[in-house]
Amino acid sequence: MQFTRSRALALAASAAAGFCLGLLFPARLSLCRAGDLTRNPDTQFFQAAAARADTDVSREDTAPRRVCLTFDDGPSRTTPAVLEVLEREEVPATFFVVANDSNEKWLPLIRQAQSAGHEIALHSASHKYSDIYRSPDAFWEDIDLLRQRLAGYADLTQIQCLRFPGGSTNTVSHKYGGDGIMKELKAEADQRGWRWVDWNVCAEDAAGEKLSAHEVCRNVTRGSEGLDRCIVLMHDSPSTATTAEALPDIIQWYKDNGYTFCTVSQLYDELA
Ligand SMILES: [Zn+2]
Repeated sequence: MQFTRSRALALAASAAAGFCLGLLFPARLSLCRAGDLTRNPDTQFFQAAAARADTDVSREDTAPRRVCLTFDDGPSRTTPAVLEVLEREEVPATFFVVANDSNEKWLPLIRQAQSAGHEIALHSASHKYSDIYRSPDAFWEDIDLLRQRLAGYADLTQIQCLRFPGGSTNTVSHKYGGDGIMKELKAEADQRGWRWVDWNVCAEDAAGEKLSAHEVCRNVTRGSEGLDRCIVLMHDSPSTATTAEALPDIIQWYKDNGYTFCTVSQLYDELA
């Protein structure tokens, strides 16, 4: 009896310790990390548009400077601050979202973002490279799961865009799915009618980087110099609060330099 009671107490104590440790040291989140991201995003999207503009003088003359602010890996505790700045500045953005146990409590923000006129787009349910890049089937299963999880929070019929975790030429997928996996996924995304998109400006604020708001702003504005159309990669993950802090200055820089803001789908439609 005594033995049983001690054993039960020991088990309870170890369970409590495990629970506390879990709170103190949560499992590492699966998010885009700086080293995973391609240094050479696929900019075919812009090249095709530029080629059309070259043969269409009227389009060239009237083409406005455009910027799409995009946020990956949310929603998270960082997202409310991002939404607040966007509302105050009256600019739209595009959110490439994830949906798993680590951000379940923030998923209602997706409805809020979509109602405010922002675009909701697909990133990944799990964002676990070893799972989603095992095979094309595994990738599309993850996307199906993401859509199921978003169904209660977003109008799925408005979702048209997708961003591959790590980008379409990321440095990690080959380890799990072989060298041809991204080429295959891009072709399948086209066949399935998804508008997949990388970026041409990077805030370099992915998980693992600890940048000040000033550094985030500097990365974005430096990367945008000389570009008439910008798709800016930023993150609204739990570790990128300084991106939200930098956002007012980033938006001001684009306003001062004659850009107007739009969602990725709006830019696609404009260039189509
Ligand atoms: Zn990501």
